[in-house]
Amino acid sequence: GPHAGTGHDDATSPAVATPVGEPLVVLSGVDKHFGSLHVLQDINLTVGRGEVVVVLGPSGSGKSTLCRAINRLETIEGGTITIDGQPLPEEGKALAGLRADVGMVFQSFNLFAHKTVLENVTLGPVKVRRTNAAEARRRGMEILQRVGVDSQAEKYPAQLSGGQQQRVAIARALAMDPKVILFDEPTSALDPEMVNEVLDVMVSLARQGMTMVVVTHEMGFARKAANRVVFMADGQIVEEAPPETFFTAPRSARAQDFLSKIL
Ligand code: ADP
Ligand code: MG
Repeated sequence: GPHAGTGHDDATSPAVATPVGEPLVVLSGVDKHFGSLHVLQDINLTVGRGEVVVVLGPSGSGKSTLCRAINRLETIEGGTITIDGQPLPEEGKALAGLRADVGMVFQSFNLFAHKTVLENVTLGPVKVRRTNAAEARRRGMEILQRVGVDSQAEKYPAQLSGGQQQRVAIARALAMDPKVILFDEPTSALDPEMVNEVLDVMVSLARQGMTMVVVTHEMGFARKAANRVVFMADGQIVEEAPPETFFTAPRSARAQDFLSKIL
């Protein structure tokens, strides 16, 4: 955008510091049912390298299923999903590699309760990426510092606040050096006073060029960091637009109705 590379980093400057590159995540004609429920209907979505896509939509519209499908936590019945040109692997080591390339941050943190913060962050690189333990610890500390929880490295998740735990979850994804990170309502389970510390980390990742797919109801984040908003309803992508267009002039009645309830 016009502000790229100007060095502004205040809250009002657009986050889009890096141009959107070639297609990294491509969903083409993706279909899935849960029994008689057609939860994903002919989903076509391309996320470019460095792009931040915010997925909005009412509860039950299929947003989580969409994220989970990209990480192959859900299988699909029709269509294709590719990451960096490669179809999603079915199983085994290739699947573990995919889950490293495609980080996921959940609403419920999902940290390993019986491992320290630093162990949570080093486990994946050592097991999946075959990084040696000392190097994984060095990088792990660096990443914990980046998200502001390095002083908690030797603690266990239950000893941390929700906001700190979620920043550890982001650090754990980052430690894998992922191609893209999927965030599924990462701040929905947090006490209000902790929401911003997590969003700030996400905005800074966006500005550093991380490719991100973010399901969130945080409109401030969408305005500040999204290249594009994708609006889902009833298993379909109903509308997509840059945030400034989507929030001021939504085209579909479904999106207008949704926005009238949350804004
Ligand atoms: P969202 O994240 O947009 O709220 P979800 O993707 O979680 O929506 O769910 C979409 C629909 O699919 C909902 O009606 C939900 O109840 C249903 N659903 C989700 N997971 C399953 C499952 N494992 N089995 C059956 N139905 C499911
Ligand atoms: Mg959901």
